Amino acid sequence: MTQQIKPQPGIMDIELYQGGKSAIAGRTDVLKLSSNENPLGPVPAAITAAASAAADMHRYPSTDHAALRTAIGEIWNVDPDRIICGVGSDEVLQFVTQAFAGPGDEIIHTAHGFSLYPVLIHMAGATSVCVPERERVVDVDAILGALSDKTRIVLLTNPGNPTGTRLSDSELARLVDGIPPHVILVIDGAYTEYAERYDGGLSYAATRPNVLMTRTFSKIYGLGGLRIGWGYGPREMIDVMTRIRQPFNLSVIQLAAAEAAVRDTDWVADCAALNAEQRARLIGALGQLGIATDPSDTNFVLARFADKQEARSAEDALTAAGILVRSVAGYGFPEGLRITVGDTDQTGRVIDALNQWRTVA
Ligand SMILES: *Cc1c(COP(=O)(O)O)cnc(C)c1O
Repeated sequence: MTQQIKPQPGIMDIELYQGGKSAIAGRTDVLKLSSNENPLGPVPAAITAAASAAADMHRYPSTDHAALRTAIGEIWNVDPDRIICGVGSDEVLQFVTQAFAGPGDEIIHTAHGFSLYPVLIHMAGATSVCVPERERVVDVDAILGALSDKTRIVLLTNPGNPTGTRLSDSELARLVDGIPPHVILVIDGAYTEYAERYDGGLSYAATRPNVLMTRTFSKIYGLGGLRIGWGYGPREMIDVMTRIRQPFNLSVIQLAAAEAAVRDTDWVADCAALNAEQRARLIGALGQLGIATDPSDTNFVLARFADKQEARSAEDALTAAGILVRSVAGYGFPEGLRITVGDTDQTGRVIDALNQWRTVA
C-alpha cells in the first residue's frame, strides 16, 4: 500500500471472522457439530421453492421484499411495514450499527456475545464497549453501568452464543426499561425458536420506540447457506436502515425459499421438539461424565471441562471419531467446547465418543 492510500478508521482493527471447521483430512463420515446447523438439513419447502425460483434467475428480484415481509407478518403476527430483510441477520445487524453509530460513538456488547459484533462495530468506525457477564449469563447491571452520553446501541444476544443461556423475563424487562430513549437496544434472537415461552423480544420491538429484534433463517429453518434474516422494530428505525440497504440485497432464490420456509410452522415445531429431547439427553450424558453445562435455550450446549488441556484432549478424541465441535477459547472459554445438538443418531455418536474418551483418558 502506498503512503497515500489509507483505510477508514477501525477497519484494520477488524480480525477476520473464524467459522466453524467443516472438514477432517482423509475422512468422509464427518459429523459437523461446530456451526449450530440444523441436523435435519434445510426445510424441504424451501428446496422446492428455490428450485422453481431458479427459472426466474434472469429477472431482478423484488426490491421491497413485499411477499416475504407479508408472509413473516402473517406467521409472526407483526406489521410487515416494520420488517427489514437482509443477507442473514448479520446484514440486519450491520444496517443498525452502520446507520446509527460512527466514529466517537460507543456500542455496548457483552463478554460472551456473538463474535461478529466487534467486527460490525469496527466497520461502523464506532468504539466497542465490552462488559462482563456473571456466571455465563448477561449481567443487566453491567450493561446499565456502561451506558454513557456516547452510547448509541446495545447489542444483546438472547439466548446467548456460546453460552446458550437466556435472561429471565424480569431481567430482560429491567434491561429494556433501563435503556435511555437515545440508545437502541438490539435483541439478537437467532435461537428464539429453540427457547420455550420466549418471543425473542418481539413484544418489546412492537411497543418500544428504541428496540429492534433480529431473527434468522439460518438455524431452525436450516438455511444458513442461503443467507437470509430479518429485523423488526419501529417504523422510523426501519426506514433509516432501508436507505442503506442495497436495493437488490436478496436474490429471487433467497426470497422464494424464505417465504416458503416461514410458512412451514410444523417444521419449526418438529425441529424444536427433537432439539429439546436430544439436548436434554446430551446434557444428561455430559453430566454423568462430570462435564459441566448450563441449561441451554438453544440448539447447542457449552460443555465446560476441568481446564484447557482437558477440553483439548476431548476435542482431539471427538475429531478422531470424525466429529467436529467448536472450540470457544476465542470467546473467553478456554475450558469449553460448544457442541451443536444433533439428531438421535448423531447425539448417540457424540456420547459414545466422549464415553470412550473418558475410559481411555
Ligand atoms: C447464527 C447466529 C446468527 C445468525 O446469523 P445469520 O447471518 O442470520 O446467519 C445471529 N446471531 C447469533 C448470535 C448467531 O449465533
